[in-house]
Amino acid sequence: MAVMAEVSTTAGAALRSPASPAPAPVKEGDAEKLRFIEEMTSDVDAVQERVLEEILARNADTEYLSNCGLAGATDRATFRAKVPMATYEDLQPYIRRIADGDRSPILSGHPVSEFLTSSGTSAGERKLMPTIEDELNRRQLLYSLQMPVMNLYVPGMDKGKALHFLFVKSETKTPGGLAARPVLTSYYKSTHFKNRPFDAYNNYTSPTAAILCADAFQSMYAQMVCGLVQRHDVLRVGAVFASGLLRAIHFLQLNWEQLAADIETGAVTPRVTDPSVREAVADILRPDPELAAVIRAECSSGDWAGIITRIWPNTKYLDVIVTGAMAQYIPTLKFYSGGLPMACTMYASSECYFGLNLRPMCDPSEVSYTLMPNMCYFEFLPMDAAASGGDASQLVDLARVELGREYELVITTYAGLNRYRVGDVLQVTGFHNSAPQFRFVRRKNVLLSIESDKTDEAELQRAVERASALLRPHGATVVEYTSQAYTKSIPGHYVVYWELLARTPADGEAVDRETLDQCCLQMEEALNSVYRQSRVADGSIGPLEIRVVRPGTFEELMDYAISRGASINQYKVPRCVTFPPIIELLDSRVVSSHFSPALPHWTPGQRNDD
Ligand code: AMP
Repeated sequence: MAVMAEVSTTAGAALRSPASPAPAPVKEGDAEKLRFIEEMTSDVDAVQERVLEEILARNADTEYLSNCGLAGATDRATFRAKVPMATYEDLQPYIRRIADGDRSPILSGHPVSEFLTSSGTSAGERKLMPTIEDELNRRQLLYSLQMPVMNLYVPGMDKGKALHFLFVKSETKTPGGLAARPVLTSYYKSTHFKNRPFDAYNNYTSPTAAILCADAFQSMYAQMVCGLVQRHDVLRVGAVFASGLLRAIHFLQLNWEQLAADIETGAVTPRVTDPSVREAVADILRPDPELAAVIRAECSSGDWAGIITRIWPNTKYLDVIVTGAMAQYIPTLKFYSGGLPMACTMYASSECYFGLNLRPMCDPSEVSYTLMPNMCYFEFLPMDAAASGGDASQLVDLARVELGREYELVITTYAGLNRYRVGDVLQVTGFHNSAPQFRFVRRKNVLLSIESDKTDEAELQRAVERASALLRPHGATVVEYTSQAYTKSIPGHYVVYWELLARTPADGEAVDRETLDQCCLQMEEALNSVYRQSRVADGSIGPLEIRVVRPGTFEELMDYAISRGASINQYKVPRCVTFPPIIELLDSRVVSSHFSPALPHWTPGQRNDD
């Protein structure tokens, strides 16, 4: 016990930044977790060597590694010499066979338990990531490290609850009978989550039945009503990504009258039909006219500034990822929360969970993630090498990355991905012990993103081509286009600026509104399934908008870029714009604006599973 206390204090002191105020005493239960972080980060190279050996030993008999000619070797030198870097497209034939029911050890020596559907897409469909049973333990281990770190910075988080909006999404089965679903859906439906023991630091206001309800409206409604009823208990408000939390705020804006009415009477609206959700809410909901009056007073004025702290006055921070594509939501979250700190605690993906932010209360612009070397084998492709295609000989180990440099992340996982290019670009910002820490720079090839959707330049190009075919009968073509992810309204939506060329000026005006509205829908139909799912099933992306700009606008855009130092020879029309003066220029030249009149097609399941 005395030894434990000593270890815990040491571990806590090591993790706390020198600048952090009044160190909080480390709780006994946290000591082991903090010590684990210290152990893992003290000699990352040794941990990584052991992890690679373990992965190669358990996957030694797989078809993939045999094809690489590894012949059972588990050492780094042979691995480096024999195993190539791989993209999803390289692995797809193997993955397809597993999905079709081939149970032989293709990628993994352990049985593939299910597929995790990534928000990254290939040929318009979600990528299918094979996973194995014991990955759940690794994921849970990483989750379990979050609060011990947070407790070093924010005391008293066990004295209340977390209003964390958590959702499951629809799932399908592959032809071979394996489940295919997002990683969080898999986690929330696992016994690890459903049968978790009581934890005062992760005591959610949302009943598990509400989290597990696949109907987006009923789940959100139940979670919101329970969060409102327990408003004084709430110490942190969050969702996985910033876009999810903003959706919840928008939901409150749209539904506060019904929510207040339910709270007044103590009976949940008949719109919540799922019996297990109704039952779970009934356990919490009591008639409370006073609380209903508070909600009405706060929500009816139309002033939404600081609504989070007005409704949940004891909130200490927002628990939400605002790095990467989510940084665009920081100003809006500041508005709704009156400037509460935003904690980005974890960096993870369907392929593997990667690491933690060991200074969770730092400013979003300073967030760095420490990759935990026990999660998988990490390698890094320097960005200059990645730009020219890159080959495996240029990969650098976790222990050998250089401060300040940018790398593309490449992983080898227990589940059987070998030297797999995740597509994330990271920059080394510092070290915790010997473990490098990384700023998330960007996802490669992503032009537009509102929430988990990721649209690249080629997809946007195809969508414009498909939609502009509707203009042909009118003698018009799209001569130039660009786009922006419009996030000033909730939900956000894609805006695509079109400059049209008509056979004669009169023809240009002959493109009627209805055709241009249909062009919006055609573009949506051409976008990937993650985009369409967000539009159709989740309502988390609004209708796509085309803004037609007057002839000559894109020439003005070029003039503007050249006036700011761009070379005339090298100038290319940016396919996405974020710089406010450019957006202002484009918006000032808009002659008409059009929205998608209907939802695009989307059905659960992968086209290639049919
Ligand atoms: P998915 O596989 O659909 O869960 O998406 C995983 C991807 O989301 C990662 O590869 C990153 O591009 C992004 N992501 C996950 N966590 C973070 C984070 N903390 N900050 C920025 N981007 C993240």
